[in-house]
Amino acid sequence: MPEGPEIRKAADKLEKAIAHQPTAEVFFAFKHLQPYAAKLTGRTVTHLATYGKALVTHFDNDFCVYSHNQLYGKWMVRQAYNFPNTNRQLRFAIHTDRKSALLYSASDIEVLTADAVPHHPFIQKLGPDILDPQVTREQIFEWVQEKAFYRRRFTTLLLDQGFLCGVGNYLRSEILFVSGIHPTRRPTDCDRERLARFADAALAIPQQSYHHNGITNDLDIAQDLKQRGWPRRQYRHWVFGRDGQGCYACGTPIVKERSGGRRYYYCPTCQPAD
Ligand SMILES: [Zn+2]
Repeated sequence: MPEGPEIRKAADKLEKAIAHQPTAEVFFAFKHLQPYAAKLTGRTVTHLATYGKALVTHFDNDFCVYSHNQLYGKWMVRQAYNFPNTNRQLRFAIHTDRKSALLYSASDIEVLTADAVPHHPFIQKLGPDILDPQVTREQIFEWVQEKAFYRRRFTTLLLDQGFLCGVGNYLRSEILFVSGIHPTRRPTDCDRERLARFADAALAIPQQSYHHNGITNDLDIAQDLKQRGWPRRQYRHWVFGRDGQGCYACGTPIVKERSGGRRYYYCPTCQPAD
């Protein structure tokens, strides 16, 4: 499952291919959306906004296309009208003179006006987006102490997109390691200093991952290990996927556990349970 940084990267790629130039054609497979095709053809995509796993393609005439990939949706960028050989069904396409952005298999596609986006039922339930540059550490520090979250374990809390939007499985383990918080603890178990570290890490780790090709480990450590010939899966993260191997901070073997069928990793020394 892609997480915030990977989803944003995919959106960047689409933006680079088809934004800031007039569309040659916009295609919708669904009948009820087809009347919008003419309204969007010849217009310009200004930007693509991401909301967790939802993507909103903004046009310069105040219309937007909301799409959510669910399990099967897949975007592809191709040379203009160069369709791939696939059994998937094309549901939405934006063609420009040079490139085509093609959305296959997704069933969740809507046309909205820009001012309706924040009120969309999926989007309005999302918590602060960890990759949104407007979100501050102070905001996260207050947010994690809200009644709705304060007594829930961090393991479950961090996968709730209503708490923080864009965190998935690897970011969950990495944020908690950098915060020094044991995964089964709750915000109410942590002192203010610990929660402040959490607020920092909740923004810094995803943003580093976005800017540095998915690396959440300390960048110097990662660089050093890479130069020594270690494979990416070994140096990419502090703890995620590293069970049984030594913690990069203290040498203690990393522990792997499961909750709700999903794995998480932590260092029992750097993230004490008491
Ligand atoms: Zn450690």
